[in-house]
Amino acid sequence: MPRVTERGRVYRTDAIVLRRSDLGEADRLLTLFTAQRGKLRVVAKGVRRPGSKKAGHLEPFTLVNLLLARGRELDIITQAEAVRTFPQIRADLLRLGLAASVAELIDRFGIQESDSLDLFQLAADTLDRLDREAEPEAALRYFQVRLLDLVGFRPELFRCVSCSNEARPVDQFFSLSEGGLLCPSCGPQREQARPLSLPALKVLRHNQRNSYEQAARPKLSPTVAQELDGLLESYLSYLLERELNVPRFVRQVRRLKESSVYS
Ligand SMILES: [Zn+2]
Repeated sequence: MPRVTERGRVYRTDAIVLRRSDLGEADRLLTLFTAQRGKLRVVAKGVRRPGSKKAGHLEPFTLVNLLLARGRELDIITQAEAVRTFPQIRADLLRLGLAASVAELIDRFGIQESDSLDLFQLAADTLDRLDREAEPEAALRYFQVRLLDLVGFRPELFRCVSCSNEARPVDQFFSLSEGGLLCPSCGPQREQARPLSLPALKVLRHNQRNSYEQAARPKLSPTVAQELDGLLESYLSYLLERELNVPRFVRQVRRLKESSVYS
């Protein structure tokens, strides 16, 4: 008597490969993000053997269609076909770093829910934008702001989280622990509040309220871009209760690009 029915033994899913590690002699352990089952750890057997047909379809940050067989502990990939390989991400260190940021955030937030369709769509769209946009950093910022919404930490950007007054169009403060704006009266009274300039606030609001196409704006000044990246990184690290690894790598790549070493 088989212990599982034939009908329930295999299933098909679209997935994004978040990361991988070696397992045994020739296998790999993959961390996937799927639309139907959230984050999933599975085994790819034999993919480190020369000539493995599946290997090329299972690179990190690839969108892949999989047939999986239920295993006793981890499910096993039986077929893999890349749907999108995002070649520009692979060809450019900065784009690769930004894609790694997307993967790190999904992995760290550890989304295990059965219904991750919105986040899956956002992640797939973001990889597509990182692959083709001239200014890929804007796509990562949009992802970060929308991710905060989808994981339940939407920051308050319109009212002061302390006095509830509607924010006037001037520079404000931001509280990581209270998850939103502090007005110019309340901000200076909080030790951990950090300044938030009006131009940076406007970009955050656009990303929070609009579609990517509507939110996309001409190139930001380097000062505003740096302020936004710093704030988003700090807020996400605060929520995750640990520092993120990838942003440091992205900063190094940016410095290299700005010098003449790398173009
Ligand atoms: Zn206030």
